[in-house]
Amino acid sequence: MEITIQAAVQKIQEAKSITFLTGAGVSTPSGVPDYRSLKGIYHGIEAPEYLLSSDCLNQEPEKFYTFVKTLYHPTAEPNVIHKKMAVLERSKPVWIVSQNIDGLHQAAGSQHLVNFHGSLYDCYCRKCGQTVPWQEYLKSDRHENCGGQIRPGIVLYGEGFTDDTIRQAIQAVNVSDLLVIVGTSFQVHPFCDLIYEKNEKAAVLAINRTPIHIPMLHEFVEADGSTVFEQL
Ligand SMILES: [Zn+2]
Repeated sequence: MEITIQAAVQKIQEAKSITFLTGAGVSTPSGVPDYRSLKGIYHGIEAPEYLLSSDCLNQEPEKFYTFVKTLYHPTAEPNVIHKKMAVLERSKPVWIVSQNIDGLHQAAGSQHLVNFHGSLYDCYCRKCGQTVPWQEYLKSDRHENCGGQIRPGIVLYGEGFTDDTIRQAIQAVNVSDLLVIVGTSFQVHPFCDLIYEKNEKAAVLAINRTPIHIPMLHEFVEADGSTVFEQL
């Protein structure tokens, strides 16, 4: 059922506890493009599904590195959506499970956060396991100390999820009485399957620029997330 922006704002304000499930649309107002929708850029070269895969990381590390560097937007700042979510967390139980790898929910100060696909800003050396500052990774993908390959701590195509991540995400989805899907068409597995972990009483609200398809009763606002969060 479609509801108004005002009704969505009220639902968020009145909920006792909320879990936000967020996607790329939450970060586009910060100037972070959604690489999945930037089809033009990939004309004539491989799809991002390959460039962001464990196969590419292992077999064509230079190609991987060149591509992954284009995903960093270190000067991007949290927008009204990130900020209001962080503020809500101070007044009631709020969890965020995000598909985004841009670190903007942390930057906004959210504490109860599950970065389901990891973060570009958590880098480590594959050889010695040491944590490496992302600034260093952007200069070279070879670890100065040991010569090993550095990589970002994101979940690549072809890689599995850790039990810890899955467990935390399920718990976050299960505890709240309102689930709010924001800025995602909600089609990427297993992220979109998390909805089945909600508790029976929980209501579902989706805020997205285009309708989303989930096989359960939910309310929907066809809008950019920022137009809703500006009014919170
Ligand atoms: Zn190393």
